Amino acid sequence: MEATAPATPRVLRNLIGGEWVDAAGAELLDVTNPATGESLARVPLSGAADVERAVAAARAALPGWRATSVIKRAHHLFRLRALMDAHADELAQMVTREMGKTLPDARAEVARGIEMVEAATALPQTMQGQILEGIATNVDAETIRQPVGVCAAITPFNFPAMVPMWFLPFAIGCGNTFVLKPSEQDPLTMELVMGLIKEAGIPDGVVNLVLGGKDVVNGILDSPGIDAVSFVGSASVAKYIYERASANGKRVQALGGAKNSMVVMPDAVIDQTASNIIASGFGAAGQRCMAGSVIVAVGDAWSKLKPELVTRTEALKVGDGADPATDVGPVISPAACDRILGCIEDALAAGATLAVDGRSPAGVPDGGAYVGPTILEGVDPKSDAAQEEIFGPVLSVVEVETLDDAIAFVNGSRYGNGTSIFTENGAAARRYRVDVEVGMVGINVGVAAPVAFFPFSGWKDSFLGDLHAHGRDGVEFFTKKKTVTSRWFSEGEVGKFFVE
Ligand code: NAD
Repeated sequence: MEATAPATPRVLRNLIGGEWVDAAGAELLDVTNPATGESLARVPLSGAADVERAVAAARAALPGWRATSVIKRAHHLFRLRALMDAHADELAQMVTREMGKTLPDARAEVARGIEMVEAATALPQTMQGQILEGIATNVDAETIRQPVGVCAAITPFNFPAMVPMWFLPFAIGCGNTFVLKPSEQDPLTMELVMGLIKEAGIPDGVVNLVLGGKDVVNGILDSPGIDAVSFVGSASVAKYIYERASANGKRVQALGGAKNSMVVMPDAVIDQTASNIIASGFGAAGQRCMAGSVIVAVGDAWSKLKPELVTRTEALKVGDGADPATDVGPVISPAACDRILGCIEDALAAGATLAVDGRSPAGVPDGGAYVGPTILEGVDPKSDAAQEEIFGPVLSVVEVETLDDAIAFVNGSRYGNGTSIFTENGAAARRYRVDVEVGMVGINVGVAAPVAFFPFSGWKDSFLGDLHAHGRDGVEFFTKKKTVTSRWFSEGEVGKFFVE
């Protein structure tokens, strides 16, 4: 009997003008399940020519889509919302397979993505302009919002279902057309969403998908046919995107990396604080831009928190995110695994010690990329473990004497994405909220990521631009303001012009 040849993973295609098309002569990269190393598909590394095809399709679709009433555009989004809801489990399963996070976490991510579509269905309200009657005799002023044109988004691997939705529904709801480049590490979830976009009847060319890496990005940044660029990813790439896209005259919002501190006051409620810290630091194996990655323990807070936190962390089960028993899934790739382990070694060399050692998690599936939850204590506040993003399941503990010291430490960071304070003291919480130089603050909340109607408002190196993702800022980013001043010379003597 002949041996069956192993199935070759299929090659993914771009979606351009409503057609699934091959990328032009592109190199292929494996998309793998990080839990097992299994190859799921091959992604083409498209180039500038593929971007130009997508831009041409988006430009061609723009006049018709822009002229479609805002209410009809919202109806398309209602249909997309219903389809995403109906397929939510399939989407979550795909997120787990290609990104690795646990299934409950993936379901929560998909739900957040759907909420973005919901928020965008309110655009007939939120896109409204302003009018002021009588700025002079018989003169009125009004500001109206019009679409920017063709908008592109470049997104990271860690939220393959949610982050593209920070932009896509708001962009098209405002009457723009759209080109998406998802992460080449996990593009399959967006392939499913593109199928739903087609099923929702959104006209061809309104949303286009171009797969690949930095050649696609450079094609987007340099294309004269693209008017606005949204980016989410690491800080160095965010800076590059911001500079090159704005030098080319585009509107840009670039969301970068983070190092988020969780300040624990001596009066914090230990039980809930420990569960919030664990969910924040180890959820998605620490691969969230809002993951708390530094515990800033004030006074004797660390000695109170440590026993509970260590016990609970050691009890977390590491494994395949698709296994219901798993608490912490794999990291995205073996390369990420090596990098994270290297960061732990560097921290140890800089004088930190291990309160929990997750370097060799037990009982994990073969072929996967696993780092177990790790807690480093005695971390030098100036060291990389306290200052630079590790993007893995690693918590660094820094001890300080006072709330002032904690605020000074947090404000000394080059990042300003998220932070939390755990305390029952209202005055301490208020003081922190007022003085901390970070754009998203949680008070007894471990992951202070805003819901869709509020902006995702990172500061400093965590965000370059003026208008943030979603919320009112999302509407502002995807619209241009036009201000009209009008005067009428007659006094409305209607009878003079119209015969009954
Ligand atoms: P990344 O910067 O490596 O990649 C992000 C995107 O940029 C991908 O689509 C990738 O193809 C592209 N890219 C990568 N290198 C490039 C280069 N040299 N030139 C042009 N394009 C390039 O980020 P990642 O590893 O996919 O995601 C993790 C990072 O994203 C973390 O730093 C995390 O904090 C950050 N992030 C930030 C937010 C936020 O809201 N601030 C949200 C999610 C993730």
